[in-house]
Amino acid sequence: KPTLLSGIQPSGDLMIGNYIGSIKNWVKLQDDYNCLFSLVNMHAITVEQNPAELAKRSLDFVALYLASGIDPAKSTVFIQSHVPEHAELAWILNCSTYMGELSRMTQFKDKSQKHESNINVGLFDYPVLMAADILLYQSELVPVGADQKQHLELTRDLANRYNNRFEREIFKVPEPFIPETTSGGRIMSLQDPTSKMSKSDDNKGNFIALLDDPKTILKKFKKAETDSGSDIIYDLDNKPGISNLLTIYSVISGKSIPEVVQHFEGKMYGHLKVELGELVVEYLRPIQEDYYRIRDNETELKAILKTGAAQAREKAQATLRSVHEAIGFVLP
Ligand code: ATP
Ligand code: MG
Repeated sequence: KPTLLSGIQPSGDLMIGNYIGSIKNWVKLQDDYNCLFSLVNMHAITVEQNPAELAKRSLDFVALYLASGIDPAKSTVFIQSHVPEHAELAWILNCSTYMGELSRMTQFKDKSQKHESNINVGLFDYPVLMAADILLYQSELVPVGADQKQHLELTRDLANRYNNRFEREIFKVPEPFIPETTSGGRIMSLQDPTSKMSKSDDNKGNFIALLDDPKTILKKFKKAETDSGSDIIYDLDNKPGISNLLTIYSVISGKSIPEVVQHFEGKMYGHLKVELGELVVEYLRPIQEDYYRIRDNETELKAILKTGAAQAREKAQATLRSVHEAIGFVLP
């Protein structure tokens, strides 16, 4: 089976954008791929984190992976910092990455604008660590939201750079797997539909967290920014707010956008918001129930992570060894 890797950083509150952009697809891909699902805490510290919250949230997120349908019997679930090879390969890749390449990354530009007091080197280097995450496992497919497409391009460039330089396949060149929603895989912020929904947004009204209670979910959709006019039509340029709600409705209901538009024909924005709220509440209900059950048993959760890290390390060490050989590091 081909290998597939994906990860989420433990920052903020896991939300439906992350679910639609990645976790939902992970679940489907488990049977056909050798899957590794990572919680990338080394990425998370590129933005200042409260240590106690970071630790707690890391386990919360893993429990949510499992509650969403990730099965540790099929897939490797692990925490990035448990596999030190990520940092080791990132250093080596750093030495083949150009400053100019990283300066062009839009996530760096966005995040350095937002966290002006802490524009650290790690934030700048984030895409290289992400490349290491992917290349360590010889991943062929990487399911990411559209917001990560640019990072994946860099990963592919780095893989090709190595393979060309050493004239053999040191790394598999990964393909992006971006879910097919009409919005190009990007779920937008509820109150500012021209920027992406982000789980670490300070304004929690901008996203629906996977653990939001029903009242909160309904309220957040009600307050979502809609557009001028009153027709419920899909038009990304002129109706980004409504189009975003239609996208979410479409993905969660499994209906196509035209079907959803037809369903709401002649109805008002308010109808869409209420019905979408109810749909999402019912969709999240079983996930939340499973989550609370799984999160309760921390011993078991940690045992799953220990097994996952051991499985991941085996593959990671093999790749790192061949990289060391290629670049002229004396093997111990
Ligand atoms: P942060 O603000 O902390 O960066 P984030 O919501 O961007 O949070 P990440 O941990 O960076 O989350 O990304 C986790 C996964 O979720 C990635 O695969 C990413 O592509 C996907 N993702 C993030 N935001 C969206 C979105 N708005 N729509 C679709 N997918 C998304
Ligand atoms: Mg992000």
